[in-house]
Amino acid sequence: MHTLPKISLFLLFLPLLPGCGKSDSHSHRPEQQEIKAFSGEYPIDVLCTTGQVAEMVRRVGGEHLEVTALMDHSVDPHLFKPLFDDVAKLSKADIIFYNGLHLEGRMADMFVQRARTKPTYAVTEGLVSRLDKRLREPPEFAGMYDPHVWHDVLLWSDCVQDVALVLAKLDPPHAKEYDKNAQQYLEELSQLHQHCRDEIATIPEQSRVLITAHDAFGYFGKAYGIEVFGLKGISSEDEIDLAHQEEVQQMIMERKIPAVFVESTINARAIEALIEPCKAAGWDLQNGGELYSDALGVAGSEASTYTGMIRHNVKTIVEALTVGSEE
Ligand SMILES: [Zn+2]
Repeated sequence: MHTLPKISLFLLFLPLLPGCGKSDSHSHRPEQQEIKAFSGEYPIDVLCTTGQVAEMVRRVGGEHLEVTALMDHSVDPHLFKPLFDDVAKLSKADIIFYNGLHLEGRMADMFVQRARTKPTYAVTEGLVSRLDKRLREPPEFAGMYDPHVWHDVLLWSDCVQDVALVLAKLDPPHAKEYDKNAQQYLEELSQLHQHCRDEIATIPEQSRVLITAHDAFGYFGKAYGIEVFGLKGISSEDEIDLAHQEEVQQMIMERKIPAVFVESTINARAIEALIEPCKAAGWDLQNGGELYSDALGVAGSEASTYTGMIRHNVKTIVEALTVGSEE
């Protein structure tokens, strides 16, 4: 089924919509009312910020695009500041795609500036302009939306469709291919979504609690039916509130939650600091393993693709939270 034409109407009017103050992208750039068709030499040089955005654009763009990701597996996007080389890549690119919703908090101004001279798109902008009800507005994130939308596979699928439309406008001769590629990728994502639902549902209900260092899994929790607690806030820059940490500790003991999880881009200390006092108080809390919250895995690893990363997270969560509660 083709749902793209319907959405294209939204995107057509998207730059005319007033900014709501919750997004860090188009709302500041009324001058960009249309996407100017690409007239340079192929492949189109595309710069993306995170690995998951780069994969999406690569999959939709196929052979007509040369896609580079600015941030590798080790980069925390909340903290990333572009260096000289990165700025050169941004300047050279024909088009820039980024996550938006202040995920790349320290690059927001730069994107607004770039948008004056070249196409610069937040892949989440369509969700914002459609006022998507699934967007989370955590009270602690200063009136902004939670940027970690890729952890809900269906929300991310909508971003894939938006990217396909942007590419179709940028490069009309290949619009049909972009649509076809997007449909193929969306089919994989639809299966992935079902896999997440089925797997998380196998965790015993009282253990269906996901505790991590920063609050990256809110969309995941909502989409797949698992309670989520982060020790820090939405940004990994946030400080840990010790009173909150004690509450979480108390809850772990009371509910006999078997494990907590570290994140690949965040220092494990915060989570380790939770394990020790629980053990000392007689509850054998485990480190459930590493989850990929804000970046894909290292090149060549199972988690180096978006679907692999989500599958890895689901497998790790299910295994750690099912242990010891099967009797
Ligand atoms: Zn994050």
